[in-house]
Amino acid sequence: MAGYIIALDQGTTSSRTMIFSPEGQVVASARRDVPQIYPRSGWVEHDPFALLNTQIQSLKEAFENSGLKSTDIAAVAVTNQRETTVVWDKITGEPVCNAVVWQCRRTAPVCDRLCADGLGDLIKAKTGLLPDAYFSGTKIKWILDTVPGAREKAQKGQLLFGTVDSWLIWNLTGVHATDHSNASRTMLMDIHNLRWDGELCEILDVPANMLPEIRNGSGSFGKIKKIKGIEALEGIAVLGCVGDQQAALFGQGCFSAGQAKNTYGTGCFTLLNTGDIPVASESGLLTSVGWVLGGKPTYVLEGSVFNGGSVIQWLRDGLKIIDAASECDALAATVTDNGGVHFVPAFTGMGAPYWDMEARGVLCGITRGTERGHIARAALEGVAFQVADLIDAMKKDAGIDLRTLRVDGGASASGLLLQMQADILGVDVDRPVNIETTAAGAAYMAGLAAGIFTDTDEIEKLRNTDKVFRPAMAAGEAQLKLDQWHKAVERAILK
Ligand code: ADP
Repeated sequence: MAGYIIALDQGTTSSRTMIFSPEGQVVASARRDVPQIYPRSGWVEHDPFALLNTQIQSLKEAFENSGLKSTDIAAVAVTNQRETTVVWDKITGEPVCNAVVWQCRRTAPVCDRLCADGLGDLIKAKTGLLPDAYFSGTKIKWILDTVPGAREKAQKGQLLFGTVDSWLIWNLTGVHATDHSNASRTMLMDIHNLRWDGELCEILDVPANMLPEIRNGSGSFGKIKKIKGIEALEGIAVLGCVGDQQAALFGQGCFSAGQAKNTYGTGCFTLLNTGDIPVASESGLLTSVGWVLGGKPTYVLEGSVFNGGSVIQWLRDGLKIIDAASECDALAATVTDNGGVHFVPAFTGMGAPYWDMEARGVLCGITRGTERGHIARAALEGVAFQVADLIDAMKKDAGIDLRTLRVDGGASASGLLLQMQADILGVDVDRPVNIETTAAGAAYMAGLAAGIFTDTDEIEKLRNTDKVFRPAMAAGEAQLKLDQWHKAVERAILK
């Protein structure tokens, strides 16, 4: 029966494929690691063909393992690490250099110049972003300014730009397109009229002819060509395209204004659906397009915590007080409270609402009575407090009162972390059975376009809750804990 959807999830560390049944169940999956290239301190690259080939290999394996026939597959969807930039030759398909990864800081001086030239406000007003090296715009400029001959070729219309979604789709179907969620992270799209912006292209020296067409994420992105290894999938339509964080919000069923999700991965990504209003943040959060469905845009406010699950990794690899991340809860449960210990995990600075890249970690309140358990508990609390600060900023910016936080990501396995989150925020924290929400979100987008689902109400019903963590702490106590946390943060902030 044709009704299965293949989701390609091209992430920073791995390329994964998940195949979903029409009922939203994962029936097969496969993954391949992506080699990281660090040519200099602060620089991060990927080989574009490694991204493509690992994706195709995982697709081949997942499809073979599923036991499905090609006639069972209704559509393919693509979700991806956002902002990572590829520039390639339109005729030969050869990238002019490695992909410049979102984490790469090489264009920080370009961003400093944009700010010094007083362009920060214009960029924020049009794109919802703060000038930062994360976003693709300055990465394209860097490639055209630095790779010999690239600018001349671009001016002659011989080069194409794409974020990873476009690079994969162009290779799979021959269509040069992207969707609004990915385009809104390039610093080149006006999020109000949903089009590439001529003025921004001029400011960043990016010829408009190299940009992909912006299409609705739930819609046609062409049909898969005959490709070695996956010949059986020739002719299947790519009907979904969405950046990873927006895909997770969609996969969590956060379709209405006021719904939010947090992903507890290495870092944490919090997204709040603000409906058809692009809310401008006063606290350094970003405004992006979530998706465009039926011609109507849904906007999001986005914030990130640099160090989330990485704190647990540090307890394991740095401090060596646990052997595995999964032991953190048991260690933290050996004590009943943090014993006055606070842990601000500012290993690499602090993001919104503090924005201090020079900040460094602080472990404070230690006494002779401090045990390893207190440190483990303070580490989990430090993650929950950072997310609470982000959500507090979002609530202020959007004037929205959050009722439930939907959660996913590797560290959402920690029940103690999620209970603390519920206690501190005073809202329910809801963890679904399927925490692979990114792939699910992309699959649902394609499923809507394929007619497998009629609307988002139907998709909402596919989400099953594993556990709801309800607030069990008096509001006064939660506020006291937050006040203590903020005192600890003051010690971490250097500026
Ligand atoms: P990413 O996609 O960023 O690589 P994942 O979503 O796979 O991250 O989550 C990995 C993170 O989750 C790691 O930092 C790890 O420390 C943390 N983690 C995994 N299991 C647990 C657990 N049981 N308790 C706390 N943290 C955990």
